[in-house]
Amino acid sequence: MNIKSILSLPAVAAGLLLVASCGQPVEDQAPLEVDLAAHAINLARESIIIDTHIDVPNRVFSSHEDVTQSTMEGNFDYPRAVAGGLNAAFMSVYIPAAMEEEGTATAHADALIDLVEGIALAAPDKFAVATSVADVEEQFAAGLVSLSMGMENGAPIAGSLDNLQHFYGRGIRYITLTHSLSNHIADSSYDDNKRWGGLSPFGEELVAAMNNIGVMVDISHVSDEAFWDVIAITKTPVIASHSSARHFTPGFERNMNDDMIKALAENGGVIQINFGSSFLTERANGYRDVVSAAIDARIAQEGLEDVSDDQRSEMSEAYREEFGYPYATLDETLDHFDHVIDLVGIDHVGIGSDYDGVGDSLPIGLKDVSAYPVLIEGLLRRGYSDDEIKKILGGNLLRVWSGVEAYARAQANAG
Ligand SMILES: [Zn+2]
Repeated sequence: MNIKSILSLPAVAAGLLLVASCGQPVEDQAPLEVDLAAHAINLARESIIIDTHIDVPNRVFSSHEDVTQSTMEGNFDYPRAVAGGLNAAFMSVYIPAAMEEEGTATAHADALIDLVEGIALAAPDKFAVATSVADVEEQFAAGLVSLSMGMENGAPIAGSLDNLQHFYGRGIRYITLTHSLSNHIADSSYDDNKRWGGLSPFGEELVAAMNNIGVMVDISHVSDEAFWDVIAITKTPVIASHSSARHFTPGFERNMNDDMIKALAENGGVIQINFGSSFLTERANGYRDVVSAAIDARIAQEGLEDVSDDQRSEMSEAYREEFGYPYATLDETLDHFDHVIDLVGIDHVGIGSDYDGVGDSLPIGLKDVSAYPVLIEGLLRRGYSDDEIKKILGGNLLRVWSGVEAYARAQANAG
């Protein structure tokens, strides 16, 4: 009988998989493709998989989809999370940059936190809000998918450490200091206006207060200068919740360069790789400019006048339909993990996919939260051991989070 045809049935695969995992170590087995795939599924099931950046709140805020059930759109829902072996999903409490100026950031953050709580309340047999390492471990043991929360953009803090206390109380466990514009806390990698030259004076105060209270400092999105300011003053390891290696996207400040990755590792922190294709390859990173140049050329050629933003985006969609989008491959995604590991070892890299946050730009084979086993299979294929892969999947992030918790406990005891 053809073993591959048997294994194409998932239930049978799961059964055989147990046989495989109880037998000899995988390196002693015949290198059948099916063994690696089955081993990857098994590893996904038995490991705590943490993804530190999933943009469900922003998606559901406007679409009102029920992610406790199967959904047609987006990259996350309960059935797909279970299929992928996802155990702790950091829900991004994402605050658009304009809200700081509008004064609506704090209320919007509360509304998105309400929404995450609502998801857990609606399906207590599926989800639970996790605000500590212990919560994640208990919920994993209980078969629940943990929803933790990170605030993307510190605008809701609005210059008040009381607000930090408030959001800690509501379960926020990391804060991405800024987003697409420089804010009252730090400069943004995406903003030419570097108004502070790094962290603002309040930003320095906030980092110290986050250390003291036990909120992880997230340096994704900040300018290079702000990153170095954070590294100079933080008392605990920091995270990049959803950034990739700039080595592959030269000049893209939103990703981390090698010196920054080394400093992050020396500090004990972790970079969680972003899966958006434009974070992974120069090809996808430059795509927007290519399209823009093509549109400009067409406008000039056809002598079009007064082209509106809407018309431009229609032309951009037409271009994409005609020529396609340069999706990253699985291998190009794995290259980022390899690169970080070559630089600083296995203890400083993890997953911050940006699912539901990067639109239709996800790599081939990694289109949603059901795909972690595909990533795992790729890591196995590159020769990583089970223990090494477990660190990438969640162990590294849990180590950082535990360290942040321990520091805050020590501060509370000392105070
Ligand atoms: Zn982001």
